[in-house]
Amino acid sequence: MPNKFPILVSGAPRAGSERTISPDRRPATGSSEVIVDSPVHGKAPWEVGAGQVQEMLEMYRDRFLALKAEGRTSYVHIIRNHGAAAASSLGHPHSQLFGLPFIPPVIDAELNGFASAYPGEAGCILCDIVRDTEAEGSRLVMATGGFVVFSPFAARLPYETWIVPRRHQPRFEDCDRLDELSEVMTEVLLRYRDRLDDPPLNYWIHSYPLHGESRPYHWHLEILPRLTVPGGLELGADVWVNIVAPEEAAALLR
Ligand SMILES: [Zn+2]
Ligand SMILES: [Zn+2]
Repeated sequence: MPNKFPILVSGAPRAGSERTISPDRRPATGSSEVIVDSPVHGKAPWEVGAGQVQEMLEMYRDRFLALKAEGRTSYVHIIRNHGAAAASSLGHPHSQLFGLPFIPPVIDAELNGFASAYPGEAGCILCDIVRDTEAEGSRLVMATGGFVVFSPFAARLPYETWIVPRRHQPRFEDCDRLDELSEVMTEVLLRYRDRLDDPPLNYWIHSYPLHGESRPYHWHLEILPRLTVPGGLELGADVWVNIVAPEEAAALLR
């Protein structure tokens, strides 16, 4: 459903005066949606069961496909804020979708990273990371036929994990293994609840922009527990100091 407090709307008024100060000024055009994760009020969908998580993921995919068909959105960002300290502001379990009229800076940086890892040749840095992480083992959390879960080498925050499909696929909306992904997500998120005392956390999906095909990319889901408060170094310089080694984090979640 549309968000009651949308940050982006279709037909948004222009920001500020018509006198253009910066070429970056543009209307806040796009979409803000709330996805109701579950009919069960007091439980996260992964506490209801993998079937509920699968329905939620299928709705994510349906909305990606609908906004893509509509043709006005550049990038779909779906997130889930779990717990008040992770900015969840509504009691009923829900996710949020932002249909952005631009490619966000983090995705732009990731696209540049994929391209610079293999300049001028075919190859995927995330396929390499999956293979190397699994072979080395110390940062691996779990692995199934279709997905690998691990703490990234340079995890930003304590117990950060990524869920990555083994299949090289740029876009989440092309994933045809949402049943298996829902089992993996349920297992991982229940481990967070049981081993870290149900921490506040955010997760989001990183996927290729809705249109165009020209750059290497590999979709993934990032989970960030919010056990520490980022300070001036993190926010001011985008330099992240993590007090829990990713190997320790993975061992706890394995
Ligand atoms: Zn890949
Ligand atoms: Zn990412």
